[in-house]
Amino acid sequence: MIFKKNKWNSILILFIVFNFNPIFGQEEKIVLHEFITNWNLLGPLPLGKIDNELSHNPGFENDFLLHHGGEGNPKVKVGKTVKVGSNKLKWIEYTSPNSIISLDNAISKRSNVAAYAYKEISIEKEGTYIFALGTNDGGRLWINGNQVWDHKEARGCKPDNDLIPVYFKKGINKILLKIEEKGNNWEFCARILPFDIDTFTKRGKLFSVKTSSRGISELRFSLHESVIDKLFKTAKLEIYTSDKDPVLVWSDQWTKDKIMNLDIEDQTFNSYTLKIIAKRQDGKEWIHELRFQSGLKINYTLYDKQKTNYQIVVGKDASESEQWAASELKKYLKEISGAEFNIVSDDSMTFVNEIIIGFNKHSQKLLGDGFVEPELMDESFFYKNIQSNLVLLGGKQRGTMYAVFSFLENEFGMRWYTPNVTTLPKREQFNFNRINHYEKPTLRVRNDFYYEAFDPVWAAHNKINGAMGFREQHGDIEGYWAVHTFYRFMPPTEFFDSHPEYYSLIEGKRIHERAQLCLTNPDVLEIITDRLKVVMRENPSNLIYSVSQNDWRNPCQCDNCQAIVSKEGAESGIIVWFVNQVAERVKEEFPDKYVGTLAYQYTRKPPKNIKPKENVVIRFCSIECCFAHDFESCPENQEFLIDLETWSSFTPHLYIWDYVVNFSHYIMPYPNFMVLQPNIKTFIDNNSIGIMEQAAYQSRGGEFAELRSYLISKLLWNSEVNVDDVIDDFLVGFYGRSGQYIRKYLDLLHEQIRPDTHIYLGLNASDKLFTNSFIEEATEIFNKAEIIAENDEIKERVELARLPLMYLKCKRDPVNSKYDGTFERFKSIVLREGITHFAEVGEPHIRAFMKQVDQAE
Ligand SMILES: [Zn+2]
Ligand SMILES: [Zn+2]
Repeated sequence: MIFKKNKWNSILILFIVFNFNPIFGQEEKIVLHEFITNWNLLGPLPLGKIDNELSHNPGFENDFLLHHGGEGNPKVKVGKTVKVGSNKLKWIEYTSPNSIISLDNAISKRSNVAAYAYKEISIEKEGTYIFALGTNDGGRLWINGNQVWDHKEARGCKPDNDLIPVYFKKGINKILLKIEEKGNNWEFCARILPFDIDTFTKRGKLFSVKTSSRGISELRFSLHESVIDKLFKTAKLEIYTSDKDPVLVWSDQWTKDKIMNLDIEDQTFNSYTLKIIAKRQDGKEWIHELRFQSGLKINYTLYDKQKTNYQIVVGKDASESEQWAASELKKYLKEISGAEFNIVSDDSMTFVNEIIIGFNKHSQKLLGDGFVEPELMDESFFYKNIQSNLVLLGGKQRGTMYAVFSFLENEFGMRWYTPNVTTLPKREQFNFNRINHYEKPTLRVRNDFYYEAFDPVWAAHNKINGAMGFREQHGDIEGYWAVHTFYRFMPPTEFFDSHPEYYSLIEGKRIHERAQLCLTNPDVLEIITDRLKVVMRENPSNLIYSVSQNDWRNPCQCDNCQAIVSKEGAESGIIVWFVNQVAERVKEEFPDKYVGTLAYQYTRKPPKNIKPKENVVIRFCSIECCFAHDFESCPENQEFLIDLETWSSFTPHLYIWDYVVNFSHYIMPYPNFMVLQPNIKTFIDNNSIGIMEQAAYQSRGGEFAELRSYLISKLLWNSEVNVDDVIDDFLVGFYGRSGQYIRKYLDLLHEQIRPDTHIYLGLNASDKLFTNSFIEEATEIFNKAEIIAENDEIKERVELARLPLMYLKCKRDPVNSKYDGTFERFKSIVLREGITHFAEVGEPHIRAFMKQVDQAE
């Protein structure tokens, strides 16, 4: 480090130095801990200019004391002349007014010079001490003629920067320091401390691993070897691979040499962790871990200048998704590199340059007999190189496919932002020497319920594996068949006339309009079970089949039903009681499937005693919550949180139905970005097997639907992902230069949230959250975002993002919006983008909105 120096201060001290009376033959008793301020100095010794910051100046190695005993045994006397080239220098005595010895003041302000500092000290008790040193810049230290320390790089002077263990004999000990000056400040400070094991084991960098260019690693003890026995009795060394499941590959006792060979396999470049388990001299244990890379570092070239020597290998028995992923890889690598990667089967001869997709003969051979093929449904995966070969592998159903897409995302910067917008950075050359990556999902079923996320190719690329019902998608999906199914199984048109007793008894009368079923009626159980079995046989590809309440209230009030409800203390009691029986009856025929039911609105409160069966999934819904603040922090959400935690405590499988949009106004600003991650984490912490994020599902045009569907896909796969990074990456990739303004707008929108501004599913334009000054400021931001857009395509994306703000203005100020052009522009963008839903209700809402603005006076 090079600091700017204070010129005036330096001149003043220099004056004092010239008036100093030299004293001869000094030695002094050292007080431990006190800085040594009195030294004999010789300089400036000329050096060459530094070649680089990491080495000594040229000439530093010269022994300028060669004719005066040499650096190994210097004969020092204040006033004595030493010839350096044609110059004559004199040893001077210098006492610093403070702990730092300023060589700028004492000797010279020149750069590219060195100086000697010499001190004789008297020690009463022989033994090991700590020489605590700080220097600006590099230097070297001799104690009684033995070199014990060397530092090459430029740096600032920091007291106790180096803690050097030194041995002092009884009586006089000679200290010689050589300090070099690379530029600006030139100074040092030194003191002697008692030797103490903690000082080293707590702050010293005691060990390092160095790997030679031939790939051979050695463990180095950083301090002087004389100190090894002072610190440690013994130490055990263990080396583990830095894989997802670390494997012990080497273990031995430390030889206690300054340098020890680590005799691990050196043909493959790899990352390791060295664990040092040492016994200190005072009997305490000291454990230290060091990460290092070892093995021969060979550069492999995947492609260069539109040519490749690699081929893609797919197993003959590869799954559909593995084959598709291989063709996707071939297609995208061609676009990125311009090179043609041929696909061959694993019946082909093994070849040195292969990208092997999934578990097959070729990957099996490389991974060895110890490697166990992942389970079919295992979605975790890895991709790594084994020498020149690349293996991309996970479970056959989707794991391998995900390995391919993550490989393209992480190694090549590919992104599938929306079904139509993909980024594919071109790259002339791709070299690697070590690739090793592992991922696993935080959730089993990931259902991103945005219209934009229903595109099956986009969904597969972004690892979305859940859907409502069946969807044709590479790798298949974990479908959830239907919801609100009571009347689907038992339509009132079919049964009510002949059997009104199957339906809710309300105020003494059986009714079917906006009602439920009488679940204690044994016929209801028979009919639903039979019909559910038919559904399961006809739609075998779903994971969960819904037997659930209609989307309104009015549960049955008959004595039988209410007896169960009052025993369980909640309406959910009779639902679980009923669904458990259905699940029990389908279990034998469908052992891998689940029967799902809702914990929603009037059934959200958990029952007191009954527990859902092993093959029952409770679909817990967050419809009543505040989404300005996360579940944990908002007082409005505490009751919900208690219900969630209670269900989670006794439910074998919880599946969440969560809400991420404003249902009444899909197309209005909804500042809930901040709660997405914490809420997903809360669900995962409560053992959810799946999450459905219900959003604007009927049409494009939901507020930031592209960004939100993308972000949600990343969060459902990995709830720990850095949300700001994902958002920023998307904003730049999707909006280009305009992205910086979209970020400003998002920040401004979320700044409107205060502790008392709770927002729910039906947030209104008149809510106190929104102000006219927010609309004005946001309008300015969008104006800038549009001006800066690179091209018309991006400008149109910005306009689409602007719709919610325009909608908000139209709702709050229809008269001005009509006359200043906001409304007209809003309508034309809606038309251009083909948006059919501003809210869940669809067409009637659009008509009412248009009328409201049109007729405003
Ligand atoms: Zn009943
Ligand atoms: Zn709140």
